[in-house]
Amino acid sequence: MIILVFIIGLAVGSFLNVYIMRTYEGRSPIRGRSKCDACQRVLGIRDLIPIFSYIIVRGTCRTCSAPLTIQYPLVECAAGVLFAMSYAIVFPHGFFAVGIGDIVELTRLWFFLAVIIILFVYDWRWMVVPVIPTLVFAGIAYVLNGSFFQSAAECSSFVACAMNIGFLHYLVAGLVGALFFFVQYAISGGRWVGSGDIYLGLLFGFMVGYPGILAVLFFAYMIGAIASIVLMLFFGYGRKSAVPFGPFLAAATAIVLLAHDPLMRFIEHAFYLPFY
Ligand SMILES: [Zn+2]
Repeated sequence: MIILVFIIGLAVGSFLNVYIMRTYEGRSPIRGRSKCDACQRVLGIRDLIPIFSYIIVRGTCRTCSAPLTIQYPLVECAAGVLFAMSYAIVFPHGFFAVGIGDIVELTRLWFFLAVIIILFVYDWRWMVVPVIPTLVFAGIAYVLNGSFFQSAAECSSFVACAMNIGFLHYLVAGLVGALFFFVQYAISGGRWVGSGDIYLGLLFGFMVGYPGILAVLFFAYMIGAIASIVLMLFFGYGRKSAVPFGPFLAAATAIVLLAHDPLMRFIEHAFYLPFY
């Protein structure tokens, strides 16, 4: 099953590549055939097998030998691995010991991880966040999460009860994420963070809820610090090189989504968190 899920992930990753490129070019992600960017040859089925096509042609176009971007196999692999990981987390006892709720949960995770991959690559490559798709994804994430009504019977205070209702819980998280970057953007006039980070804060807050969004911000700065050192030491980045923050936020959100329950238990025990 896990191999099958990995292959599904590869195929989804292949579509995500198409979606990313065509969104950037302003074309429909569904209509039209895929072409080589250099020679415009329409790609056949032999060119569209995830990973293998790239390996067989050694990263170049079959006809014109133009180098293909390493983004293609990387995105496919990332989707395959993340899909397999979320499958193992949601179905720890195998596929046949599951209920319909688990399948809904897995679908929700796969959708979120796909969106995370799209925004990671988009912001990394072009240093811009596609605003309209991000807001649409945020709307879908909010409806998906907000409709997961949790039991309000176990809560201890009015605030805790209100937060237990998915509707409010995720609204607060989205606002915390968006405001965190909006304030920095407003104070610095856009020098510390880009306006795209405000939309990403909203979306990722809607994905992980509160206090998950706090963990996302924390991990994003940790990953950002580590990545900056690696980029400067091994990839020739300088002090002044511009590095977008969105990919770190996206990576942090993936971590918090996949490790959500143990992380939240840790946060509850380690810190006093109001509103939760
Ligand atoms: Zn070509």
